[in-house]
Amino acid sequence: MTAYEDFYRRSIDDREGFWAEEAQRIDWKTAPQQVCDYSNPPFARWFVGGTTNLCHNAVDRHLEKRAGQAALIAVSTETNTEQVYTFQQLHAEVQRMAASLLELGVQKGDRVLIYMPMIAEAAFAMLACARIGAIHSVVFGGFAAGALASRIEDSSPKLIVSSDGGSRGGKAVEYKPLLDEAIAQSSHKPSAVLLADRKLTTMKIVAGRDYMWSELREKHLDTVVPCEWVDSTHPSYTLYTSGTTGKPKGVQRDTGGYAVALAASMKHIYCGNPGETYFSTSDIGWVVGHSYIIYGPLIAGMATIMYEGLPTRPDGGIWWSLVEKYKVTVMFSAPTAVRVLKKQDPALLTKYDLSSLRALFLAGEPLDEPTAQWISEGLKKPIIDNYWQTETGWPILSIANGVEEKTSKFGSPGVAMYGYNVKLLDENTGDELTGAGQKGVVAIEGPLPPGCMQTIWRDDERFVKTYWNSIPGKLVYSTFDWGVRDQDGYFFILGRTDDVINVAGHRLGTREIEESISSHPNISEVAVVGIADALKGQVAVAFAVVKDASALVDDAARAKLEAEVMKVVDNTIGAVGRPARVRFVTVLPKTRSGKLLRRAIQAVCEGRDAGDLTTMDDPAALQQIKDLLA
Ligand code: AMP
Repeated sequence: MTAYEDFYRRSIDDREGFWAEEAQRIDWKTAPQQVCDYSNPPFARWFVGGTTNLCHNAVDRHLEKRAGQAALIAVSTETNTEQVYTFQQLHAEVQRMAASLLELGVQKGDRVLIYMPMIAEAAFAMLACARIGAIHSVVFGGFAAGALASRIEDSSPKLIVSSDGGSRGGKAVEYKPLLDEAIAQSSHKPSAVLLADRKLTTMKIVAGRDYMWSELREKHLDTVVPCEWVDSTHPSYTLYTSGTTGKPKGVQRDTGGYAVALAASMKHIYCGNPGETYFSTSDIGWVVGHSYIIYGPLIAGMATIMYEGLPTRPDGGIWWSLVEKYKVTVMFSAPTAVRVLKKQDPALLTKYDLSSLRALFLAGEPLDEPTAQWISEGLKKPIIDNYWQTETGWPILSIANGVEEKTSKFGSPGVAMYGYNVKLLDENTGDELTGAGQKGVVAIEGPLPPGCMQTIWRDDERFVKTYWNSIPGKLVYSTFDWGVRDQDGYFFILGRTDDVINVAGHRLGTREIEESISSHPNISEVAVVGIADALKGQVAVAFAVVKDASALVDDAARAKLEAEVMKVVDNTIGAVGRPARVRFVTVLPKTRSGKLLRRAIQAVCEGRDAGDLTTMDDPAALQQIKDLLA
């Protein structure tokens, strides 16, 4: 056995011993009494009896050795600002934020929703919640009022932290009016809103509800807020993600297991050392932002870069200039971002001194071989793919160079990571597929390792039903991804088994987009599918049936309705959910029992064979789509 195989086997065969050792990477107030309680599957409780605090592990514990070292580097090419916070300064800002939250009535276990652009205050807010045992729920700043409202409704926050706005490509983007509208739409009302005013837009202030961070901060310049020691199983946050149904799921994460998992991954997978700089280009609204902009690097004692701006402004060399300036050792991005850079001058890749950089990690969507090859040759650095999900919080598949150096295989995210008992299962029979090249559903046998989701917020039943009951006859976690494995144990991911699509690394439920489009007064029915796209991986395309066909008299009328439908999506979900095209048909392909045949539509759009259509109600429906595309 190789060193990694040995390490992996131990993580599965001696789960308790393995994770007891890993648990020593973080500080505990009270040591755990039990490593894993799996007496009530599929609910796993990690490090039972232990008490700890995420903020302590990310900030306070570094004060002794590295108070004066950079911790948070907030760079905005939108406002042309760069600010470096040392661990000492971050500690002070987080306490000011924590004191403000406490003053506004937030208590341990309360939810705090964070709807923020990529600014330092967003990091302060997340860490402040962790500090006082409040549960944060960060909502991606690109989501519009409808998506935000459903998240306010489900998480019922005591308080919302937000800002006047963000900026994109030099243009201010208003957040506050969307927030006000979302609160109006939601039946739950937060008792306070705390606002970081960047003076990018003018805000309407709601008296008695809205408070200014600048004022509370002044008041609490020297307030000391000690860390609240919470049980290892205390929820640290919820993060909403899309699934098959229209209603997003609140993925709930614990505290102790998450801290241990991140600390371990920083060592074994990302190989980041204290005092170095980590640069993840993601957004705090996504899981990568939680794990590898905020908590992972800070827990490891690294400085982390928070970047607001485009990868191409002022030019396509901006990220590499930051690598040079801050001596970044580990970088994390997404394939779409690399494909965007691929369209820029390749000389930008060699213009800066990248000698500090050891590896570029990519995740969030399939990494196609040409993109991997291009960036690998351009940077002359290892490119490491890693496959995981909002639900798991850290990689399921990758290579663990901290344990044993392995080479990546282009097109494969790698091998099963320690702690994950990954199986490929037959979708219909649930049988395990062990042969090389056999295609199956990527599944994980319980318990899920530390750091993965505990449950769906306030919905244990949905957690079990959605994730653990989808494979016949087995209580096993489904990733809802198809995969194959080769003879060396490397997996290849072949797309989702459900109606989730991945646009530029952003996960979207086709049902969410359909619900949004259906709210247009002239749409009676719609099907949304994800179609392969050279830049974004996939784009959403909608096929809609109108109620009043007189709206489609000519091309101009069609274009007008298409634009209207897109606007509806912009206003409810946000531009991330906007379909690339809205096409109009008179009937949608369905089975005789009325189920939409999205897969057949997708196949036709991608020029593939539509497969078995014996259950289709009206073959003319698919023909209409074919004709449209022709
Ligand atoms: P999210 O929860 O938004 O991170 O999306 C998770 C989904 O993105 C996975 O279930 C996969 O479908 C896809 N995904 C994430 N990382 C990769 C990767 N490295 N290769 C292929 N697909 C990926």
